[in-house]
Amino acid sequence: MTARDPIPLVDVKAQYAPLLPQIKQAIDEVLEGGQFVFGPNVSAFEEEAARYLGVRETISVANGTDAIVLVLNALEIGPGAEVICPAFTFYATAEAIARVGATPVFADISPQTFNLEPDRVAEKITERTKAIMPVHLFGRPAPLAELAKLGLPLIEDAAQAFGSPDIAGTGIASTFSFYPTKNLFGLGDGGLVASSDEELAERIRMLRFHGSKSKRIFEYIGTNSRLDEIQAAALRIFLRELDGWTALRREAADRYRDLGLGQVCDVPADEPGHVYHLFVSRSPHRDEIRSALADAGIASADYYEPPLHLQPALRYLGYSEGDLPETERASQENFSIPLWAGISAEQQERVVETVLATARVPAS
Ligand SMILES: *Cc1c(COP(=O)(O)O)cnc(C)c1O
Repeated sequence: MTARDPIPLVDVKAQYAPLLPQIKQAIDEVLEGGQFVFGPNVSAFEEEAARYLGVRETISVANGTDAIVLVLNALEIGPGAEVICPAFTFYATAEAIARVGATPVFADISPQTFNLEPDRVAEKITERTKAIMPVHLFGRPAPLAELAKLGLPLIEDAAQAFGSPDIAGTGIASTFSFYPTKNLFGLGDGGLVASSDEELAERIRMLRFHGSKSKRIFEYIGTNSRLDEIQAAALRIFLRELDGWTALRREAADRYRDLGLGQVCDVPADEPGHVYHLFVSRSPHRDEIRSALADAGIASADYYEPPLHLQPALRYLGYSEGDLPETERASQENFSIPLWAGISAEQQERVVETVLATARVPAS
């Protein structure tokens, strides 16, 4: 590798490359078995994931968006109901709420954590509020204990935080995505619901298969949303690697801080449960930093601009610019830099040097 090699935002292939022989063998076994849905790998993965997360039940589904929709359906949250969620998150969070006919109600975030601010959530509660949907954004756990005090069911959108010890358990259900860039990923789409409420889990298990337990008697209007055997076989292998990957992500985040990135931008403060799905900093000079990185062949990204309350599909909710000031400012200032399990110290040094070179001497 030379100093000119481009650095991607995430190198998923580097993470799974050492596991290729195991993955190929697992896929071969699925082919030998000839059972592609609801087979032994799906059952085993569901059990292993439940044990890992410390919940009684998990239900695997086709993707993380379906996972949210199915939880809402199972809780009979629909027309007339409100669900409070952030507007600084991936679109699917609010889309799922709207998809079941309920109303997403956006609360503002904390500028330090990018997560829901409990005081702002409290202000949005009405008698129609049926749940709060915190998102563990960028891998940082949302303030679940404080949100739980508000007395409403919590549905955790945990798509970005598989592997954090501080999630899944406080809420009535947590939802995960195995989209290939997430911390725990599959070889395509996949998702999971985790819950210790056995009745709720049973309903979700039926809803993901046409509202049926038996394939003959159909008790609810459900859908078809399944994880397949090949995905489950790969996910079982990756789940065993996850804690090691998380440790590498956390080390890489520490290294960014140690290299002095904080001299030119606000870097994320560490906390033990943060699993660094992304390393997202903020600066009023975000665009300048991103173009310097691009010139140096270093990938970067920024998120959720426009934020959800200003997206065309959600205009009917009636929000306007200025309604969520911290959300709007975060969407204008945030940027993420390369981070994955296995990024090298040299790559990180090049990133930091490039960002530091954009620094303006502060007028003190
Ligand atoms: C990825 C993601 C989803 C959706 O997951 P899919 O598997 O792509 O449907 C939902 N919410 C958040 C916060 C996400 O990051």
